Amino acid sequence: MATSNSKEPLNLENIETSKLKNLNSTQDFKNLENLDMLNIGIVGHIDHGKTTLLAKLTGKFADTHSEELKRGITIKLGYADKIIEKNNKKRYISFIDCPGHEMLMATMLSGAALIDAAILVIAANEGIKPQTKEHLIALQAKNINKILIIQNKIDLITKEQALESYKIIKQFVKGTIAENATIIPISAQQEININKINDFLMEVEIPKRDTESKPEFIIARSFDINRPGTKISELHGGVIAGILKKGTLKIGDEIEIKPGISEKQANQLIYKTIKTKIISIYRGSYPIQKATPGGSLAFETELDNILTKADSLSGCIAGIPGTLPEINDKIKIKYNLFPEVIGMSEKTKTEDLKPTEIIMLSINTTTTVGKIQKIKNNEVEFSLKIPIVPIKGDTVGLARNINSHWRLIGFGEIL
Ligand code: GDP
Ligand code: MG
Repeated sequence: MATSNSKEPLNLENIETSKLKNLNSTQDFKNLENLDMLNIGIVGHIDHGKTTLLAKLTGKFADTHSEELKRGITIKLGYADKIIEKNNKKRYISFIDCPGHEMLMATMLSGAALIDAAILVIAANEGIKPQTKEHLIALQAKNINKILIIQNKIDLITKEQALESYKIIKQFVKGTIAENATIIPISAQQEININKINDFLMEVEIPKRDTESKPEFIIARSFDINRPGTKISELHGGVIAGILKKGTLKIGDEIEIKPGISEKQANQLIYKTIKTKIISIYRGSYPIQKATPGGSLAFETELDNILTKADSLSGCIAGIPGTLPEINDKIKIKYNLFPEVIGMSEKTKTEDLKPTEIIMLSINTTTTVGKIQKIKNNEVEFSLKIPIVPIKGDTVGLARNINSHWRLIGFGEIL
C-alpha cells in the first residue's frame, strides 16, 4: 500500500521543511552521506535544562509527544539533529535527549549504548543530584570518556556562586572518567555561551564505524507519518527510526524485524518476526540512499502503519533476513556489580544477585524483566518476561527494585 515514487518529500514526524530548504545544492545532498557523524547523548538530573539546551542547539524541541509534554519529562529518547560548521569543516550531529527521571534510568542506559560522546548538564543553582551521579557512573561503565560538562542556569546565580559551583563540580568528577572534561558555564534559557559547545562537538574524535559487518539496526521509535485523510495512493509506509550499530543498509534492501509483533495464542504471547523492504532512508530530515553507522536514521518501509504506529516496534532489532540471532526468553550474561547502589542518598552496599531474584534488564532499546535461574561465579542465567534478540557482546544494564525504585546495580555482557 505504500508508494515509493511520491513526489512530495517524506512528511516525517520530526521534519522541519525549513531545514530541507537549507540544503540548496545537490552537492550538499551528495556530501551528506560522507559527512562525519556523531551521536551525542545529553544526560543529567531532571529539570537541569537538557531539553532546553537541545532546543537551543538544534532549534528543535525534543519533547514532541503530548504525554511527554504533559508530564514535562522526556520519556522516550528524543532525537534532534544538526549540521555544524567550523573552519570549512562540517559535521552531522545527532543528539539523544536522555530522560532524567530516575524510573527511566533504563532508557538512559539504552541511549548510552548508542552514543559516542556525552554532554552532562548540571544546573549551577542546584549542583550535583542523584541522577547526575547515576548518569556519570553509567557513562563510566560504558567507557564513554568524551564528556563535556555544562554548568547551566548561570543566570540564576551570582559570579561567586558560579565559582563555588564550579569547584564542587571539579571535586565531583575527580577520579572519574570525566576528571579532565571541559566545564562550560551557560544559560540555556538566556542563550549565554551556547556557541562554545560547538568547539567540543567539532573536536570529538569520530570513532571508527563498522560498515562491513551484517547490519544491526536498533529501533528506538516507530510511527505512522500519514496525516488522517491521506489518499491511499499517497500513503507512506510504516517508519522505523533508531541507530545503525554496524553494517550498511540501502534503499530496496529486504529486512527482518525481531522479536517483531506479539500475538496472543491460547493465552500465550507469541512473537512473530516481520519481513519488509526499505523504501526510503532519512538522516534526520535529509533523504539519503545508503545508511551507515553514526547518527540517527529513519527508514520508510513497506509495512502497514498498523504495525509501526505509536512506537510499537521500539526495542526491536532490524537486520538482513536470516542474519539476526533467534529470539530467546533466556539469556546468559557475565556481570559486574557496582560496590554501592547508585542513586540512593545514603551509602548502600550492593548485595550480590540472589537465586530466583527478579532483575530489570536493559539491552539496546529494550527493557525486560528477568528471573534468575542460575548463578555461578560472575555468570548468571535469566528467564525473561519479554523475549529478546540476544546479540553476543551486547551490554546489559541491571537494575534491582529497592524500596519500590529501580536502582542501577551493575552491568553485564551477553554470552
Ligand atoms: P530537563 O528535565 O533536564 O530536560 O530540563 P528542561 O530543559 O525541561 O528545563 C527545566 C526547567 O528549567 C524549564 O522550566 C526551563 O525553562 C528551565 N531552564 C532551563 N535552562 C535554564 C537556564 O539556563 N536558566 C533558567 N533560569 N532556567 C532554565
Ligand atoms: Mg527533558
